[in-house]
Amino acid sequence: MIPSSFFQERGISTLLIDVDNTLTTDNNPVPHGEVLAWLDAQRAAGLRLLALSNNRRERVAPFAARLGLEYIAGAAKPLPAKVNRALKKMGILKGEAAVIGDQLFTDILCGRLAGCTTILVEPMELEGYGFFKLKRPLEERILRRYRARRKGRGL
Ligand SMILES: [Mg+2]
Repeated sequence: MIPSSFFQERGISTLLIDVDNTLTTDNNPVPHGEVLAWLDAQRAAGLRLLALSNNRRERVAPFAARLGLEYIAGAAKPLPAKVNRALKKMGILKGEAAVIGDQLFTDILCGRLAGCTTILVEPMELEGYGFFKLKRPLEERILRRYRARRKGRGL
């Protein structure tokens, strides 16, 4: 679990957090207790919290309400347009926002395209269906290469 000091030290005021497999398991309406505690800690530290999901409003709105989060539904990640628009509307600079999610090609790419800080988290549950089957091994290869590069640089 990332401490709020991580964000504060980097001048980050706003967290855009993916829902499925980041805040909860896929399509599960009930978040884990640890997640609720983490959200409370970030909120207490003064961070602004939004759920950022490609899922439909009908799924995202009740979930966000339950957690006391603002939300962006139908986000069309990895396209950054909705994130850009939301940040502009809130008067928040891209450098002050972090995008957190479990998928490299949606969450992280979206955050990078929007110019935000990005944080890749381990998915809560590995989905064993649909196009994820294709995507996960691809992510693994890219992550392995990235980790190897970091190692090579002595980081
Ligand atoms: Mg996800």
